[in-house]
Amino acid sequence: MPGITDQLRATKPQPELVDRFYGVVEKLKLENPFHCFQCFKCTSGCTSFRLTEIMPHAFVNFVRLGFVEDMMRSELLWACCQCLKCKERCPQEVAPVDVIFLLRRMTVSSGSEIPEDLSKIIMNVTETGFIQGTQTVKVGDTSVDREKLGLPPLEIPNAEKFRSVLMKAMEEQME
Ligand code: SF4
Ligand code: SF4
Repeated sequence: MPGITDQLRATKPQPELVDRFYGVVEKLKLENPFHCFQCFKCTSGCTSFRLTEIMPHAFVNFVRLGFVEDMMRSELLWACCQCLKCKERCPQEVAPVDVIFLLRRMTVSSGSEIPEDLSKIIMNVTETGFIQGTQTVKVGDTSVDREKLGLPPLEIPNAEKFRSVLMKAMEEQME
């Protein structure tokens, strides 16, 4: 797979997406990414930086240069584990994680694909209230469940309530 600089060489900034991006920045009263002075503090503490070619400070920079769609396809968009360290560290209150959230939101609302594992998690949570079903673990050669480990049964969350809150949040996002 070509590196990000080769990919960007083959593309151009995307002004319509930039307008949409700044529309949401304004609506959500987020800090303008142009206030980023590329100090690198976000990247130096990023939990996910080993998983991705694009570093958080570069992500912000590419977005403000207009490569919004390219960043919507970048690995960092979904590799970010939302630890919020960049938000804590950013001296300009830009915080790459806010830009990442915004681009995730644009990706989902444009109907683009999201990683399969995330779709599974959303499906599990909306159906059962858990991100995954209860698991068994290996003890020696034997698989054991919660009961065998002497753990109490899991309290089943109110998935119906979660679903209705999720639907309401999604409707608000679409307004
Ligand atoms: S910490 Fe903030 S100002 Fe510094 S590079 Fe990252 S986003 Fe830009
Ligand atoms: S919130 Fe995301 S981008 Fe920011 S430091 Fe954590 S993993 Fe990195």
